[in-house]
Amino acid sequence: MSERMVPIAGEQKKRVCYFFDSDIGGFHYGPGHPMKPTRIRMCHSLVMNYGLYEKMEIFRAKPATKREMTQFHSDDYVEFLSKITPSNMNSYVKEQHKYNVGDDCPVFDGLFDYCSISAGGSMEGAARLSRDKCDIAINWAGGLHHAKKSEASGFCYVNDIVLGILELLRYHSRVLYIDIDVHHGDGVEEAFYTTDRVMTVSFHKYGEYFPGTGELRDVGVMKGKYYALNFPLRDGISDENYKSVFEPVIRQVMESYDPSAIVLQCGTDSLSGDKLGCLNLSMRGHANCVRFVKSFNKPLLLLGGGGYTMRNVSRAWAYETGLAAGFELAPDIPVNEYYEYFGPDHKLDVKSSNVDDMNSQPYLDRVKRIVMENLRHIGGPPSVQMQDRPHLPIDELMDDLNQDEDEDDPNDRRPQRLLDSRRQPAGELSDSEDEGDGRRDHTSHRGRGHSSDSDNKHKFGMGVGILASSSASHGAGPSGHTTVVRMLSSNVADEEASTEALEGDMDLDMDDTPPAVHENGLRSHALNGRSGTPSSSPKEEKEGERGEDDMALDDTLATGTTSISSTPPPLPDAASTSI
Ligand SMILES: [Zn+2]
Repeated sequence: MSERMVPIAGEQKKRVCYFFDSDIGGFHYGPGHPMKPTRIRMCHSLVMNYGLYEKMEIFRAKPATKREMTQFHSDDYVEFLSKITPSNMNSYVKEQHKYNVGDDCPVFDGLFDYCSISAGGSMEGAARLSRDKCDIAINWAGGLHHAKKSEASGFCYVNDIVLGILELLRYHSRVLYIDIDVHHGDGVEEAFYTTDRVMTVSFHKYGEYFPGTGELRDVGVMKGKYYALNFPLRDGISDENYKSVFEPVIRQVMESYDPSAIVLQCGTDSLSGDKLGCLNLSMRGHANCVRFVKSFNKPLLLLGGGGYTMRNVSRAWAYETGLAAGFELAPDIPVNEYYEYFGPDHKLDVKSSNVDDMNSQPYLDRVKRIVMENLRHIGGPPSVQMQDRPHLPIDELMDDLNQDEDEDDPNDRRPQRLLDSRRQPAGELSDSEDEGDGRRDHTSHRGRGHSSDSDNKHKFGMGVGILASSSASHGAGPSGHTTVVRMLSSNVADEEASTEALEGDMDLDMDDTPPAVHENGLRSHALNGRSGTPSSSPKEEKEGERGEDDMALDDTLATGTTSISSTPPPLPDAASTSI
């Protein structure tokens, strides 16, 4: 067998924590919908079959609870997400409209569990980084950057990124957020628009494109002025041109802002050939952003995001997982359960195409010059009054929350039916859905930016900037930004996480679906979320997920009680795959 990966020369060894929950592949947005959570599972299959499990620690995060989500989202919105199902949705027509759920962001089976898994991975990744348990944390199920405080948007319901950054802010004075998705990172920018504790930097297609925000002149307001940076791009940007703006801008941001932690949203809809994207990055051009950001040697949270041509999404994120761990993956895709999907060449690379790059040199130079000028206003890292450990309003809440999480019965929230739904419906992986027939249906997804802009559904007035005083937030730019990170008040902490997450109709009697290839290997290697208890089977893991010995997050991660198996699972061989 040829080498599946080789160490990258001169790389500093990094401790990598990788979060994956196999349930993620079982969620379906619905027929014809371009967002396919299966892509995360495909990526994981590559990661495992390349042998990357030997180079990093693999975790299944504890799913985020409703109360954790309300650190950013409104209580009523989270409550709605936890209640709504395909069978009861007709009783919530008004709410669906209010929360923008139903079209691009459909109601589907297990919606809340999907959100919990996505957010849990990002929060736990952030928690492990903050507590110096790893140097790089990866959650490809996260990166859902469009979700707003009280509104779903662009296939995103819960903003795992904002929740992860809030976790990082408990220990870090300044957090840098970088977004290389083809779409503007609007939800994250909006959340931190009035603060200098988080700097948001987004490179994205701008102009007649979802979500319609992210203008060059949108730079933040009040204390946050010049701590939001937008680099609008035109169609078809090449690797070379992307690099020519990404590297100098990020280098200058690092110098001016000097963050102590970085979150990189690695949306792969910026790749060439993406079903919804319009840029022309190769896998290597995209991954160069990861390599470059990693080179600053700061605690780094790598998140997923968009990406709608599944075989390319999984290629890029697997390759970037390798880079994080300091390994270059071999060019031939190893045999894995999705092997035929990578045909006919079965190569890892995603190549650029020959489309024209509409980003002329004068255009890029002009934008870069203005961005650099804005960065000069920063003048140096803002001083943040920090104690040894910053005390935020969320601290008490977090500590409280972690104690009462046990109240929820995990089985209520992880219905067995979802296990069964891992079986892919016919056509789920077919090229035709990826490239052809369904395309017409996707025009609404492509074109949503226009209608969204005119809908004016955004709500104003109530949000206050995180860590800002009680000043009202300001609108700015065409989107009317609203900073919506809530100042957590004691009445939030007092609220009960009372409603049952899912009704009895989820209580189905499906027998266990056979675990996917390598799943046992993974699970025996994984932790029970934050409880720190190694598990040996999926069943045990589910039951033990919130056992009585579950400890507060701080205790678990700060006192060294977490025991992580360093024994890799047995090397899978080709015969064990389903091909
Ligand atoms: Zn996107």
